Amino acid sequence: MVPTSPASAREILTGLHDVMASRASAQAKLNNVVRIIAEAMASEVCSIYLLRDGVLELFATVGLNQSAVHVTRLALGEGLVGTIARDVAILNLDEASRHPEFAYRPETGEELFHSFAGVPIVRRERAIGVLSVQHAEPRAYVDLEIEALQTVAMVLSELIANAGLADKAASEATAREAGPMRLSGLKLVTGMGGGIAVYHQPRVLIEHTVAEDIEAERHRVYSAFRKMREQIDTMTSLAEFGTAGEHQEILETYKMFAYDEGWSRRINEAIDSGLTAEAAIERVQQRTRMRMREINDPLLQERMHDLDDLANRLLRIVSGQLGTAAQTGLRDDAILIARNLGPAELLEYDRRRLKGVILEEGSLTAHVTIVARAMGIPMLGRIRNIRQAIGEGDLVLLDGNEGVAFVRATGPVEEAFKSKQAAGRKRLADYAALRDLPPVTKDGTRITLMINAGLRDDAAALQLTGADGIGLFRTEFQFLVSATLPRRESQQRLYRAIIEEAGDKPVIFRTVDVGGDKALPYIEVGNGVGEENPAMGWRALRLALDRDGLMKAQARALLEAAAGRELNIMFPMISEPWEFDAAKAIVEHQREWLAGRKKLLPAKINYGAMLEVPALAEMLDMLLPKIDFLSIGTNDLTQFLFAADRANPKLAERYDWLSPAILRFLRRIVRTSKDYGVPVGVCGEMGGRTLESMALIGIGVERLSITPAAVGPVKAMIRSLDRGQLVPELEKLLASGRADLRTALSDWAQAHDVAIG
Ligand code: PEP
Ligand code: MG
Repeated sequence: MVPTSPASAREILTGLHDVMASRASAQAKLNNVVRIIAEAMASEVCSIYLLRDGVLELFATVGLNQSAVHVTRLALGEGLVGTIARDVAILNLDEASRHPEFAYRPETGEELFHSFAGVPIVRRERAIGVLSVQHAEPRAYVDLEIEALQTVAMVLSELIANAGLADKAASEATAREAGPMRLSGLKLVTGMGGGIAVYHQPRVLIEHTVAEDIEAERHRVYSAFRKMREQIDTMTSLAEFGTAGEHQEILETYKMFAYDEGWSRRINEAIDSGLTAEAAIERVQQRTRMRMREINDPLLQERMHDLDDLANRLLRIVSGQLGTAAQTGLRDDAILIARNLGPAELLEYDRRRLKGVILEEGSLTAHVTIVARAMGIPMLGRIRNIRQAIGEGDLVLLDGNEGVAFVRATGPVEEAFKSKQAAGRKRLADYAALRDLPPVTKDGTRITLMINAGLRDDAAALQLTGADGIGLFRTEFQFLVSATLPRRESQQRLYRAIIEEAGDKPVIFRTVDVGGDKALPYIEVGNGVGEENPAMGWRALRLALDRDGLMKAQARALLEAAAGRELNIMFPMISEPWEFDAAKAIVEHQREWLAGRKKLLPAKINYGAMLEVPALAEMLDMLLPKIDFLSIGTNDLTQFLFAADRANPKLAERYDWLSPAILRFLRRIVRTSKDYGVPVGVCGEMGGRTLESMALIGIGVERLSITPAAVGPVKAMIRSLDRGQLVPELEKLLASGRADLRTALSDWAQAHDVAIG
């Protein structure tokens, strides 16, 4: 009987259900399974191969010689069975011997059979065995037959895992099976770290495959679909993609799949055949995955990836396994794997165990990258199809300095990595030796070198690096790590702790910059309408001036925290000078209020503006007389100058900070500020890179606020630089119209022994 309808597939499953429930040994169960399938499919042969010690062993068969059981062994990639397991792909052949990989094994007696169909038995997306059928006559198998085999393979995967039949730790086996791999991506945060791969959204492990009550399973899948569609709709309409780093395009694809009738119908049919909701979703997904692989079209593969994500979301809903890995907690040193992350999501992880992050997307100035940098966690981005390359539990060695990750590395690679890591520590120690030396150029220009911070622990970096102060304290980090709006008292405690730890060194507090890619669950950005361009939306000071309760509370907290000392405060995303006035007025109002109550006030308040909106550069003559200092936020400024979303991975490498347009623009701001006698500095990520900071010094910047890890390298660069030689060279380059300043500057640095690392 050929199972041409779901009902007959269900008969197979009913048979299997009884086998699974019996008290027979695992081997006896497998013997029964092959018998049931051979009967149902009227095939002369049905065999099961399992992966043992990295080799596929014939475990049970009807139709092949019984003496071949536990004797016939095939390496991965060897013969048809080995090919199926290696590629995790189906083979459906009417004439098996014509396939180029066909390997004849005399002990099995298989020359008698013409047609062959085999499916991988999959666990955690990798093959742990193969199920095959053979017929004496040449015939191609129909879709329903293949699907029936896949259904059985799903059930077998449960049986095999429960009985510990395949290589004991499936993940160990698959690790060897998949072999070592080197992935290269975009360097987001430098540093090195190793650990076990952990998916931010863990894969759902399916425990029960055979349904007890088909109607109940159908019901579960219906309501999961409903929930998933609701989620996608909300994400699309409320522009939540800003938070999770998901983009419009992906959401559109999600939506298309979420409402795809074909997909839900296939899942329903799989349930009809007797699978649980989870197993049905997974089986349909496996089938689609394999089909897409056969088509081998890069565009479709991309789509497949989105569908995979969505299927995983559906699985998580149906199984109730909703938490992220941060909620479950990291048990070992870990490398986190995700499509993308929001800054708040990253902050949920235990810093001590988190040794690195690998993202499929990611860009240099996205806030999650800045947070990772602040946390000192190496990060790699732009690795495609990451979950195919890295399995949960794989050992991953991440080298953020080179932009590579070694997956399932073997001895020599691991040793080389460790020795490089040790050399890196040594280099850090060398930089530490620079700690007490001033950042002065060879020709005597003293650069003020400060650090960017945002977390309570960051203040410690002041001592470690010997930096001149905190040039940018991102106060919104406290808001991002908190589930509810931080109270004024807790804001005040944090600011005071930072000021105290900084001692004599200045700390520049930037008022809350939320919105954009820093969304907060408790502040609805976009008035429920959804923002198409959150980076250019209602964020930072714009939001703070409209909802001034937040700003008032923060101003009070800052004034109280700095009582008796000097307070430095700056406002983000000022587009027009009046916004500075309005923000300053809020702080001044709070100061008067405190003064009226005879409270101890800061000894002095210095007010600064961030220049990150290009329009403000045109208004400097109005702004500069009002302010005590100017800080250029190159992350936002350059995204607006180039009209290139800083969080969009597709643009991550498109525009260069060392382009003439940016350097000329910055030079103009620096010159004007100097004309007005207003101190000007750069606090964007650009300043933390040696070649970029060299160029900044070349256009006249004398204050930098950078990520703590960059203080050593940037100081080494400064101390090896003759500024007097660089300035005319850079002027010449900027006048020449030459586009590739990076190459020119790096050649110049090398020729002049400037330590650019
Ligand atoms: C900037 O935009 O350069 C900046 C320093 O602010 P943030 O990165 O927090 O937006
Ligand atoms: Mg900014």
